[in-house]
Amino acid sequence: MRISNEQIALVNDRIDALISAGSFYGKKLAEAGISGVSTPEDFENLPFSEKNDLREAYPLGLMTAPEDKIVRIHSSSGTTGLPVIIPYTAKDVEDWAIMFARCYAMAGITPMDRIQVTPGYGLWTAGIGFQAGAERLGAMVIPMGPGNTEKQLQMMRDMKSTVLCSTSSYALLLAEEIEKRGIKDQIHLKKGVIGSERWSEKMRRHIGDSLGIELYDIYGLTEIYGPGIGINCKYNTGMHYWDDYLYIEIIDPETLRPVPDGEMGEIVITTLVKEGAPLIRYRTHDLSRIIPGECPCGCKHPRLDTIMGRTDDMMKIKGVNVFPSQIEEILQSFPEVSSEYQIRISHLDGKDTMRIYVETNGSVSFLELADRIAAKVKSVIGFTPLVKVVENGLLPRSEKKTRRVIDERYE
Ligand code: ZN
Repeated sequence: MRISNEQIALVNDRIDALISAGSFYGKKLAEAGISGVSTPEDFENLPFSEKNDLREAYPLGLMTAPEDKIVRIHSSSGTTGLPVIIPYTAKDVEDWAIMFARCYAMAGITPMDRIQVTPGYGLWTAGIGFQAGAERLGAMVIPMGPGNTEKQLQMMRDMKSTVLCSTSSYALLLAEEIEKRGIKDQIHLKKGVIGSERWSEKMRRHIGDSLGIELYDIYGLTEIYGPGIGINCKYNTGMHYWDDYLYIEIIDPETLRPVPDGEMGEIVITTLVKEGAPLIRYRTHDLSRIIPGECPCGCKHPRLDTIMGRTDDMMKIKGVNVFPSQIEEILQSFPEVSSEYQIRISHLDGKDTMRIYVETNGSVSFLELADRIAAKVKSVIGFTPLVKVVENGLLPRSEKKTRRVIDERYE
């Protein structure tokens, strides 16, 4: 999906603003002698922006509108170094709420719903985004914030919340608590709107079934407004995103060139109307693909597939880009294997090889299972791995995040 003329006009307007504000990106363009774009090719040659650029602009170097127009900041967590500060104008705050309200409407949520918001409030864009969108829609917000499961369940019961907004892990915890206490008949939830961390299909089914609710994935990141820039519809065929506010490209993270619709790569986002901190070609390092064709729901907004991981997780094997989540998904289609696995990649005799270790109980033929898994990987990804099946419990486990992918080529 290449950039349209309308979108190009909006980009040029943002380029003018960035150059006259003298922001990092404005300077980058000025140095390159660029003052605008007129074709999709021009656009695809614009420099990228990166999280590091944003960090270097700390504290307020991203501010592109005059100070009297800025009404709020948000900040994204930096595990290392400085956080990123994103200034918002009143219009940015409103646009974000409009997009978020659209997300709720896409999920079939109406002003008669009661929305329990459990993501955190504060510098994060999470809680306040869920709340502003719900208010814009006209629904009733129950602004809980995270934690305090006792109180969450009490409010859920007494306020008869119909929508739960949360992370997938918190939804799972609540589902298990409700089950444990046997209070499912007192819960009125119909829908869950789940923030965009990566979660497996198995977990999704578990949460959906145990709470008896429909689940919707919402996408977004602090640098680009926050959550609410896209959501799946009831057909669950990818997340519709708002292309009147954003232009999304998928690029090959190695060649940095856009890939055709349908191909997996890195999500790169351009904000089309953002005032406080417009971003051009911002590399998210999230992996997904544009889903080609039309959605059965009839909505014309384009679709992004579920986030498949981060570019840092990508492996290139025999010239093919492979993501651990693709292997994980294949393994999940084999009910005989446990959820533990390990992938090892090495370079032997001038060739890349991938070994996949999986666990099973003793009830199946290990060799036959290994062959079936290898054949499935070959059919989905395009090369044949070596698959080794071991007894349940033999693969390493740890309290912290277990390291499942070991690339011996770089160790
Ligand atoms: Zn749809």
